[in-house]
Amino acid sequence: MNQHRKRDIRTIPKKELTEFLTAHNEKSFRSTQIFQWLWQKGSTSFREMTNLSEELRETLDANFIFKSLNPVDIQKSTDQTIKTCFQLYDNQLVESVLIPSPNTLTACLSTQVGCPLNCKFCATGKMGFKCNLTVGEIFDQIIFLQKQAQESFNQALTNIVFMGMGEPLLNYSNVLSAIEKITSPEGLGISPSRITLSTAGISRQIKQLADDKVRFNLAISLHTADNNKRNHLMPVNHSCNLEMLQEAIIYFHQKTSQRVTIEYVLLKNFNDSLIDAQKLARFCKEFPCKINLMEYNFVENLPFQKSDKENFEKFENFLKSKNIIVNRRHSKGDGIDAACGQLANKTKINLI
Ligand code: SF4
Repeated sequence: MNQHRKRDIRTIPKKELTEFLTAHNEKSFRSTQIFQWLWQKGSTSFREMTNLSEELRETLDANFIFKSLNPVDIQKSTDQTIKTCFQLYDNQLVESVLIPSPNTLTACLSTQVGCPLNCKFCATGKMGFKCNLTVGEIFDQIIFLQKQAQESFNQALTNIVFMGMGEPLLNYSNVLSAIEKITSPEGLGISPSRITLSTAGISRQIKQLADDKVRFNLAISLHTADNNKRNHLMPVNHSCNLEMLQEAIIYFHQKTSQRVTIEYVLLKNFNDSLIDAQKLARFCKEFPCKINLMEYNFVENLPFQKSDKENFEKFENFLKSKNIIVNRRHSKGDGIDAACGQLANKTKINLI
């Protein structure tokens, strides 16, 4: 069969694969074996599937392909953060980041090439939207970063965050299927409590997560609790304003009993005043949450600067005085454009 007409094996549901095998006079349990190779061992070639007969491997090869990611560039920053650029089957590029800190080793994954939401502080948003990643392409990132974690730090990953390129909730079914493969015992068996999905705040999809009773953590990139400022900073606010977002978060908490994380990047003279802190405290008082305050990472040609140390502290102390749990997040990977909001495929292809 022509290579271009073959289907990606990792898009085939198990039931359909079983039917294919039965039609080729193979026992149905072979589909379980093939799924173990795909989703437990992360295989990206039928040749590796050594408990299948040579004949079956040839049949699979003749009918299916792997649209897998190919790492084309790796950069390491002085703080040991590692950014990997992958080439997709259709030649587009996407990036993932491995972030070490004293107690954690975090994989930051992408879910789209580019992003349609165009948040004004974000380099990915400036690229526009190119495409959604498939389940296999999301899964490949984690397999690669698991190996990279062992090779570079002699340690297993402790956390997985969907905070790379793209808005995960706009690629809902592929992201949730990938998380299912990462967490299920038939997949990698990683606890959902180690996974955090971060969204710019698509209220309808947050409610969908609640109805789907997800067990991973949810983070909301809020960045201002003022509708006018948010309309400017994050155009998604025009269709999902703060009132809709707050209602969705309350619904999410009621259905899942989970405490969400609110992410807030402090931008000098934009959202870092005490009035901004008051608005944030008011927004958050309707549901249990913790707030991550983040330093802004410089992006070329964007008008924002990071907040002064003094304003940062005043902002933080005000929230703490309201008994809100606040964590300060320091930037990692800045020198290689791997920090939050900086991923924009600046890599020149350099086959490794
Ligand atoms: S911050 Fe996230 S949602 Fe906003 S443009 Fe960047 S990648 Fe998209």
